Amino acid sequence: MTDSVSDLTARIVQVQQQLEASRANPYATGASLQLGSGSSTRENLKPSESPDCCHPLEELRRRTFSNGTVHYVRQCLSCGRASNAIARRQLSEEQMQQAPDYDEQLAERYQAACLEERRRKLERRRAELEPWRSAEYRDYLQSPRWAVLRRRVIERAGGVCEGCRSRAAVNVHHLTYSHIFHEFLWELVAVCRECHERYHQLSGWAT
Ligand SMILES: [Zn+2]
Ligand SMILES: [Zn+2]
Ligand SMILES: [Zn+2]
Repeated sequence: MTDSVSDLTARIVQVQQQLEASRANPYATGASLQLGSGSSTRENLKPSESPDCCHPLEELRRRTFSNGTVHYVRQCLSCGRASNAIARRQLSEEQMQQAPDYDEQLAERYQAACLEERRRKLERRRAELEPWRSAEYRDYLQSPRWAVLRRRVIERAGGVCEGCRSRAAVNVHHLTYSHIFHEFLWELVAVCRECHERYHQLSGWAT
């Protein structure tokens, strides 16, 4: 899967739309958000693309190309962008001698950092929209509070699945995630594994 900044931006918009939709009707879609790997993004980005940089600090640098050509350019020390070549007659000997080498990797590092930041934002957004997929929720399922809720729900059902009333209840299922982490017991039901899996397959949510 390949990504680019515009893909990610499109996805942010998509996430926002899904968030709006989920506020209107939290249980209608069960859609999951695809974040992608975010790993193969660099090739698609040109160093000149620096959407988030206002180039606050630039420095004169000596840029040597593979064919041996030397240009003097101003490089943004934040995003790595290079200006057009500066005519030598505009520069003093001293300036040219003291100019450090152009950092060929800076733009790539900057783009990678931007993408990483976007990925983190998307993940935070997804955790808001789909809290049951979050690490916090996985921890919660191991917590003493959840153990108590779980036991009470299964006890309430007499240990029998509330989906089929034939098999033993071994899982506790959320009828809603409205109060995730602060559930009321009526929002939870005791289910057997078969019913639980069937429910999540039908509704499209991963078990
Ligand atoms: Zn810049
Ligand atoms: Zn069942
Ligand atoms: Zn469930």
